[in-house]
Amino acid sequence: MIMKFNTELIHGHFNGDSATGATVVPIYQTSAFAHESPEKLENIFNNKAPGFAYTRIGNPTVLSFENRMSGLENGIGAVACASGMAAVSMSLLNVLSAGDEIIAGSGLFGGTIDLFEDLRAFGITTHFVKHVTVDEIKPLINENTKAVFAELIGNPALDIVDIDQVSALVHENGIPLFIDSTTATPYLIRPIEHGADIVIHSTSKYVNGGGNSISGIIIDSGRFHWDVKRYPVLEKYGKYGKFAYLSRLRNGIWRNVGACLSPMNAFMNSVGLETLGLRMERLCDNALKLAKFFEAVGGIDVNYPALPKSPYYSLSQKLFGGRGGAIVTIRTGSRDKAFQLMNRLKLPLIATNIGDVRTLVIHPASTIYTHSTAGQKENAGVYDDTIRISVGIEDIEDLIEDFAQAIEGLKEE
Ligand SMILES: *Cc1c(COP(=O)(O)O)cnc(C)c1O
Repeated sequence: MIMKFNTELIHGHFNGDSATGATVVPIYQTSAFAHESPEKLENIFNNKAPGFAYTRIGNPTVLSFENRMSGLENGIGAVACASGMAAVSMSLLNVLSAGDEIIAGSGLFGGTIDLFEDLRAFGITTHFVKHVTVDEIKPLINENTKAVFAELIGNPALDIVDIDQVSALVHENGIPLFIDSTTATPYLIRPIEHGADIVIHSTSKYVNGGGNSISGIIIDSGRFHWDVKRYPVLEKYGKYGKFAYLSRLRNGIWRNVGACLSPMNAFMNSVGLETLGLRMERLCDNALKLAKFFEAVGGIDVNYPALPKSPYYSLSQKLFGGRGGAIVTIRTGSRDKAFQLMNRLKLPLIATNIGDVRTLVIHPASTIYTHSTAGQKENAGVYDDTIRISVGIEDIEDLIEDFAQAIEGLKEE
């Protein structure tokens, strides 16, 4: 049966707990799994029999979450990680070697930019493009280019990648496309259907939805042909065909680095995932209404991809069915006014997170981007007067009333 989105969230890729009939998968809060004979454990260890041995390598609660995410994104498998950053790191280190080059958007999540700097010490170089477009990527491709990495909706620049065009270009050159789809979520788009080869989420954000666990996930489309001559670290795994990438991840780097997701956090994510559709519908509605309010109020410059004045309006219509995600940024005119506005707000919390049910606000220039260069800030759409709003599920009338009184207060000064 082909299910629509919310039905699939509840019933797809999910079997409850066959041992007890529990309707949600229990939290298997254990480090190890005992077996009746050394032969049985030998087989499990060597992937010759299904089963679990040790939670760093596999756990039923975590596996259930992985299967649900993989099914939702139309992948052939997924590996859950301790954080979104662990997922970004492991996804790339699974295939890259010293001498390899990455091409990436310069407006990426700050942690990812910092990671790419860290990778230089291991001989992996990243070239940043201002916009992830065919025109900007093409001149940077050479025989060492082994990955193109992009976020579908940049945060906080809120630029959108034309993923169909970019994936066509990179595939012509035998390069895989890595998409961090955290801010888009499977509710807005399934990147694999548009040519992404590896999809990454910080599931700490919209998938969890309640702001209660750090976690990440890597989903493999199974569609990229990994030539083991170009990717020598996959040599031993080439025999697994389309499962080569996942096999090395699970049996090699991910397991050995030890960036596994805890069963408790996997459980929290599975619970959150079930309401992803409801929350995203409300979040995107709220964000659009709030953006329209800012547009009308005067004195505030607003950026939101689903506003007709946005340069990404037509892409948001084409890729996301007219929705624009749940992040809105505004410019107030000065850093001082930005701080005053934030201090006057009663409902939004001042916090560095996105994807929570609560509305969160932050001044990125003095926090997330405090160590960035002027150029990096500009590429990320971060100015001294920028406030990023991660819109929550509160009643929109209350949010608008609160922002209205905060802005009104500015005018009186
Ligand atoms: C938060 C975030 C990350 C990092 O995720 P953590 O779970 O905080 O490690 C990566 N990419 C994007 C787009 C994010 O928003």
